[in-house]
Amino acid sequence: MTTLASRWFSIPLWQRVVAALILGVIAGLVMGPQAESIKWIGDLFIRAIKMLVVPLIFASLVSGVVGIGDLGKLGNVGARAILLFLVTSVMAIMLGILLGILVKPGEGLDMVAPAVFSGAEPMRGAREILLSIVPDNPVRAMVDTDVLPLIFFSLLLGVGILMSGKAGGPLKRVFDSTAVAMQKVTIIVMEFTPFGVFALMAWVAGTYGLAALVPLAKLVAALYVGCLLMILLVYTGLVRFVARIPVRQFYRGIADAQAVSYSTASSNATLPVTLECVQRNLGVSKGVSSFVISLGATINMDGTALYLGLATVFGAQLFGVTLDSSDYLMIVLTSTLGAIGAAGIPGSGLIMMGLVFSSVGVPLETIAFVAGIDRIMDMMRTMTNVTGDCSVAVSVARMTGEIDVKVASAEPVI
Ligand code: ASP
Repeated sequence: MTTLASRWFSIPLWQRVVAALILGVIAGLVMGPQAESIKWIGDLFIRAIKMLVVPLIFASLVSGVVGIGDLGKLGNVGARAILLFLVTSVMAIMLGILLGILVKPGEGLDMVAPAVFSGAEPMRGAREILLSIVPDNPVRAMVDTDVLPLIFFSLLLGVGILMSGKAGGPLKRVFDSTAVAMQKVTIIVMEFTPFGVFALMAWVAGTYGLAALVPLAKLVAALYVGCLLMILLVYTGLVRFVARIPVRQFYRGIADAQAVSYSTASSNATLPVTLECVQRNLGVSKGVSSFVISLGATINMDGTALYLGLATVFGAQLFGVTLDSSDYLMIVLTSTLGAIGAAGIPGSGLIMMGLVFSSVGVPLETIAFVAGIDRIMDMMRTMTNVTGDCSVAVSVARMTGEIDVKVASAEPVI
């Protein structure tokens, strides 16, 4: 028993996850619709991930802000990080739209729209979203897992603790230690990933069969190409020209975070690994890395942004909706908000489609088409999200003198 357990744990988590994915598909094809009976294992896993979101964001953001040390530095680091987050997100959305127009994934697809699709979020206008950033009750924001107001409150609380000086000390320690404990809880939940992935893949393959994946291959390919372009051009550019550290070492240093994000499809679940990689392998100071990486895992989602742009064009092609230039502008705006508002958990990008689609009149039924293959795309966009966070972290650290270039240029520690 012990040997079995130690052998199991000696295999890197991501390899167990990839194996689970392949075995899950095979099991699903063998079991057919009966695979539905094991879906609950996947649901259990998703619940466990969702369980982490509020305490993880709350603790890591407050501790990240406080970790910056003083308000002047916070402004310096925060302004630079948010500017880079926004610029890269807008680039990602425009790339997604462009790929949608060029690849035309939604044309010639012969699928009938289901009459009712109940999975979408209720429509929310852009103004309403901006208003909802300020919570009227932070506890309710936590209870409802309302990420934007939660972020807002966490940032303010961090600033408050900084302003309290000595008196804020005990609270700072509480948040620091909660953040560490939450990272450990995340690691426990992550150990459940292979089982969750196996069950979910078996269910997808069993319900839709492999054939269901074929017509959507173009969309998947377009997303993968777009994400790769973001990584190769935009992030590599940031690392090379802004952070000025060796590109090869950067990618070697964050390889673990990339593997974990790709297999878990959750920026939040990857957060502890990303933090470790950026601090230990790339020499970014604790303050800057905790702040930029926690904030980035929550609001900087370029892969998701790209996906929202691409999927909107896809849906428009699918249902013959014509988009004009003001529609494209609207897509950029709502996709930016959608990517900011999406939680770093599997499938949240899909939920945000409701917001973007409804702003330009693309039928929400599109969500039902892509839902079945969302996981494959979710993995890639999450890896892009996390890579983006890391590239912004090293860039901001360089701009504010918070990176140990010697560490960043050396071989990875972990
Ligand atoms: N799963 C993604 C993440 O955690 C969000 C998304 O669904 O696009 O970063």
